[in-house]
Amino acid sequence: MHFKERLFCGQIKPGDEGRTILLAGWVDAFRDHGGLLFIHLRDRSGIMQIVFNPEIASKGVCDLAATLRAEYCIAVRGEVRKREAGTENPNIETGTIELMVKELTILSESDALPFTVSEKAMVSGAQSLGAEKVNEDLRLQYRYLDIRRSSVRDNIIARHRIFKCVREFLDSRGFLEIETPVLTMSTPEGARDYLVPSRVHQGNFYALPQSPQLFKQLLMIGGMERYYQLARCFRDEDLRPNRQPEFTQLDMEASFIDEEFIYEMVEELTVRIFAEGGISLLRPFPRITHKEAMETTGSDKPDLRFGLLFKDVTELFQDTNYTIFRQIMQRGGCIKGINIKGQSDKLSKNVLQNEYAKEIAPSFGAKGMTWMRAEGGKLESNIVQYFSDKELEGLKQRFDVKDGDVLIMVADPSYSVVVSALGQLRLHLAERLGMIPEDSFYPVWVTDFPLFEATEDGGVTSSHHPFTAPDREDFDPENIDELLALHSRAYDLVVNGEELGGGSIRINDRNLQRKIFKALGLTEEDTAQKFGFFLRAFDFGAPPHGGLALGMDRAVSMILRTQSIREVIAFPKNRSAACPLTGAPSMVKRGQLADLGLLNLEAKERLPGAEKQDNLLDRVSWVSRINIKEEERPMIQAVLAQAKGLAGIASKNAGTEEPAYTVVPLSNRMRPGASAERSELSQAGRLLANAPSVKGTFFKVAPILE
Ligand code: ASP
Repeated sequence: MHFKERLFCGQIKPGDEGRTILLAGWVDAFRDHGGLLFIHLRDRSGIMQIVFNPEIASKGVCDLAATLRAEYCIAVRGEVRKREAGTENPNIETGTIELMVKELTILSESDALPFTVSEKAMVSGAQSLGAEKVNEDLRLQYRYLDIRRSSVRDNIIARHRIFKCVREFLDSRGFLEIETPVLTMSTPEGARDYLVPSRVHQGNFYALPQSPQLFKQLLMIGGMERYYQLARCFRDEDLRPNRQPEFTQLDMEASFIDEEFIYEMVEELTVRIFAEGGISLLRPFPRITHKEAMETTGSDKPDLRFGLLFKDVTELFQDTNYTIFRQIMQRGGCIKGINIKGQSDKLSKNVLQNEYAKEIAPSFGAKGMTWMRAEGGKLESNIVQYFSDKELEGLKQRFDVKDGDVLIMVADPSYSVVVSALGQLRLHLAERLGMIPEDSFYPVWVTDFPLFEATEDGGVTSSHHPFTAPDREDFDPENIDELLALHSRAYDLVVNGEELGGGSIRINDRNLQRKIFKALGLTEEDTAQKFGFFLRAFDFGAPPHGGLALGMDRAVSMILRTQSIREVIAFPKNRSAACPLTGAPSMVKRGQLADLGLLNLEAKERLPGAEKQDNLLDRVSWVSRINIKEEERPMIQAVLAQAKGLAGIASKNAGTEEPAYTVVPLSNRMRPGASAERSELSQAGRLLANAPSVKGTFFKVAPILE
């Protein structure tokens, strides 16, 4: 068998009939027609039906073929033939031809599979299993099998194409692909760092980059002018469905540019990568200021695929007799609403009052919600009698009300409560009423963000990161009101209500950068310690520069219309940020911690309560929060000594002198002499059905032996 002759299944086309070829791949599926064996042979490029016919193949080959099972890895040589009329299979691209096998080699066998890999039915019209039907953790545990499935494989191939498109485009615009360190210093992007302890410099830590922000700016100062990187970034954030602790950003930076350069370049790039998924986006992308986005959609990530934009009606109720509104006005509040045009048949009084006003709006943080339905030229609701004709007329005009329309209003003393609750109602209603056009993509630039946000302790924090240029430089870094009124030269690219990326024009003036740090409440000392090396670079002729980063997992997932970003990452973490395949994150042995100097850290800086741990009994008492009385001490001391002895036996049985931090093989180690028995429930898988965390057939528990 000479692999250099090997062709891909997807290469074989009608017209190749009569050719003798060598194919190699996996047994996707098989059908035995009494002596005649049909197999779907699958490789990365596709599927080819191969046929074992005793009239063509030798008995030896046919006997060997009878032993083939799903996912055996094989090579076959044979002749391409046109399929008989009526046996074509439209499910596969080579569905009009097949290979009559003469030689077969089993390259490697496969165990029974944890789930079906095959996704293509062998006969036309038959149903096949799709990736979404298998439990996701099981898919991730056997990801290498999952990747063999055509749906997952195609996503990974499409991702490659999109990345290739990015590289080609940026190269054509003079951008250089440059790598920046992964073991580095903390970068301020607002999340927690993943820390990596240094063995060589004990007690010191690297941080994994939350983004290459500092390095890409240093590359600009280094005169590289145009940089990009498909960079892995790490952020230790709380779990959310579509978030990964490590993710890939298309990170870019350029010198001697302004916002318009970024808009033009990123729009063109976005148009091209979306075209890889057959999606055409129109340029130029619309732009909306942050203020306008909040005023009209209640979100800094506005979904503009549908209307339902807010209108402010506060001034219509300046002199209202309706007590609730009047009280809100007296407290300086506001009232905003939306008109859901022509949907009153789907939004009955009952739905509006009992579902939306009573349940849904409060769950979005609103204290109440006012609704009105337009019928017979009038607005109707449970409270309409409290409003004057002028107010009702004002509403009709402001919302351009027609019969069949439904108005929803939220009033509150707090502006942010109004926009946030109404924003969520807007999305909820659009979803429920099917108002979001399918397969539509609406990119928009959000601009003019506030530079700072207020913190709880009366200070400010950067809305993006502290290197973002403000819209003006003549501010007083100690005047909080003035700081909160500043805008930034930042921009976000939002598509369908999801932030695809963001960036800014940066500060390139060292004094301005220092002023920003001062505004953030960082002392000269803090600044020098955290960013000294970075600020120093600004002393040597920093060019004006700016950039942006696009979240590529999210972009690819959107382009390929997958349910989750995990579908476009070869080896993603699951929803709990763990990897069911490798078991990461996993516990480590004390020895490893000792090598890294992590055990001594505690001694250097005693943790609260640590002094209690010096005496075993005090320690147990402290850990278990049980107060042990003086007279109980001798008895508990004896029990502890016994437990320690048993723990010693257990750790020896486990084959290690040192207590293991991970689950050890199943055996009854606590009662020498008793034999271990497995429960039937365990065999059936029911025992672990409710386990919070399972490894193989074991229930994972916290380490108890120390
Ligand atoms: N470093 C920023 C981020 O990760 C992007 C940028 O400002 O270029 O969000």
